[in-house]
Amino acid sequence: MNKIAVYPGSFDPVTLGHLDIIRRSNVLFDHIVVAVLNNSKKHPLFSVDERKTMLEEATKDFKHVTIDSFDGLLVNYLKKTNISIIIRGLRAITDFEYELQIASVNKHLCHSAETCFIMSTNEFAFLSSSIVKEIAQNGGDVSSLVPNVTCHALQEKMFVC
Ligand code: ADP
Repeated sequence: MNKIAVYPGSFDPVTLGHLDIIRRSNVLFDHIVVAVLNNSKKHPLFSVDERKTMLEEATKDFKHVTIDSFDGLLVNYLKKTNISIIIRGLRAITDFEYELQIASVNKHLCHSAETCFIMSTNEFAFLSSSIVKEIAQNGGDVSSLVPNVTCHALQEKMFVC
């Protein structure tokens, strides 16, 4: 039986931390669907299409990874696609409380949902899309934190990198 997992998130924009989680999940599961959440309340810097295009480019050499997007509740996406495994990355203790709450709510709403947490590598434990945007907005170099495609996209958005 093929084990398919979904890796949901904002990916605004994709970082090397996200790619590390995708690469490591790829070893554990037969297929990974990276699902970009279309959440306008978060006022993202990049549109869903831009985020998907960046992810497609950044994962083009990975086998068995596809990119998709969804609106609203993740559990509805799980039911629609018939996927029950959710991958989430865990960085520091601060991620834990929020992730535990989300995983518990998803389990409550969809009994078959199982959340699989992957610890970040030490190298990327401090890395988030928000910090990347903050550095870039202030003219800092983010080239060691994000794939080239993100670097170019940030450059176009705010003339940095
Ligand atoms: P969300 O808004 O859903 O938290 P993100 O794009 O910020 O979306 O993160 C998606 C997932 O990737 C989350 O599980 C988050 O904890 C994880 N993640 C983000 N950055 C890293 C990183 N540097 N290392 C490991 N996991 C990460």
